[in-house]
Amino acid sequence: MSANDLRVAIVGAGPAGLYAAGHLLHQHDVTVNIDLIDRLPTPFGLVRAGVAPDHPEKKLVIDRLFDFYLDHPRVRFFGNVELGTDITHEDLDARYDAVIYAVGASDDVSLGIPGEDLPGSHSARDFVGWYNGHPDFRDLRFDLSGKRAVIIGNGNVALDVARILTLGPRNLSQTEIADHALAALTRSAIEEVIILGRRGPEHAAFNNPEIEEFADLEGIDVEVEGVDFDGLSEQPVWNVRRKLKTLKQLAEAPSGLQEKRIILRFMTAPVAISGGAKVAGLKTITKTASGEQANTIETGLVLRCVGYRGAAVLGLPFDDARCTIPNEHGRVIDPNAASSGVYVTGWIKRGPKGVIGTNKKCALETVHCLLEDAKAGRLERSAPEIEGLEALLKQRKSDWVATDDWRRIDMAERTNGADQERPRVKISSWNELLQMATS
Ligand code: NAP
Repeated sequence: MSANDLRVAIVGAGPAGLYAAGHLLHQHDVTVNIDLIDRLPTPFGLVRAGVAPDHPEKKLVIDRLFDFYLDHPRVRFFGNVELGTDITHEDLDARYDAVIYAVGASDDVSLGIPGEDLPGSHSARDFVGWYNGHPDFRDLRFDLSGKRAVIIGNGNVALDVARILTLGPRNLSQTEIADHALAALTRSAIEEVIILGRRGPEHAAFNNPEIEEFADLEGIDVEVEGVDFDGLSEQPVWNVRRKLKTLKQLAEAPSGLQEKRIILRFMTAPVAISGGAKVAGLKTITKTASGEQANTIETGLVLRCVGYRGAAVLGLPFDDARCTIPNEHGRVIDPNAASSGVYVTGWIKRGPKGVIGTNKKCALETVHCLLEDAKAGRLERSAPEIEGLEALLKQRKSDWVATDDWRRIDMAERTNGADQERPRVKISSWNELLQMATS
């Protein structure tokens, strides 16, 4: 390594971290060596464990970009390594010229309503992690024995969850959905999913392509409630006009023809989740032209899709209000820190908004700051005499998952998938993942 080379650690091997790695690898005037650290034995973060399995096109970024970054000779993967448990910020700060945190938003937003914690009320993180084979969530159980499920919030996650609950095994069995979820959803009795938006359709959080897809869901009626389209004022923003046009078309389409239905109910806020030993209903208030209307929706399953929250990283400052690490264009602002060289990208930088591609631009901004600091001599260079991360982990955590180990998992999943004409059959338990990694 020459004196101008940089050693960078990226914590988080999801889209934010991998786009940052890609930008660093593309530099011509500086050679950057990257260690990519992740708590999971598998890379790709929300592209693997967040993107809905019936949206395989959103995972193409793995084959087209992320796999190349991961296999790059100047990138090492350290999976199954947890910050705060196996290593600390200080460990990284001492060993690298710069550290980029791309740790996402790992906490849930709380609704703060009674009954939120009753069995049968779950966060989107739990349900999405479960159907996507995230090893932390595979043992969860969801009561799919009732005919109705209610989703609170109407962002893209809400639409993902509604589709997965209603698409049925014919559509899901060709995807990479986790086998345990496929089995449970095959037995599911759910016929109706109600998606609640607390505001009007002009404020719906879902994106246009995602709601437009609802016009073509096989075997599912889509209904729209709580909207007076004629009473809505002309919208100045074109993508809101596009959203309203789609919703109007959905509202006007014939219904009652299919076995299952998704209802998009607007102007309806959750007030309390009722039940004794488990969820029995959701109390709501709907705003109408003539006032407010209270209602109780009978259901045994409530899924709270109301967004995510970033969590603090030990050793770094935290903005409790925004739930992000305070930063300027990706440079962490820490009045108490002695050294520079700490950066953020992705949801922990800007909050949990945006699609996967949003992370590309976000990471570019962060990497630009890092390189500017390097050129200006503002980075405190890591001391060459300090043992590297590999040596440190050999003492503390010998079962980290390196790139070749991950490739064994990847190959097994893809091979099993090919046998079933699916993209992959996910390995979803910690034990099996680690066994396959070392096999
Ligand atoms: P989101 O887009 O922030 O939507 C959150 C929803 O929860 C909003 O409808 C919000 O309503 C509602 N909400 C929040 N607090 C509430 C409360 N106390 N009571 C009732 N409703 C409440 O979050 P998300 O759906 O979790 O998505 C997170 C990010 O991932 C988004 O940027 C999304 O685009 C992205 N994503 C993208 C895709 C895709 O590209 N297909 C898929 C999944 C996720 P208000 O608007 O009224 O606050």
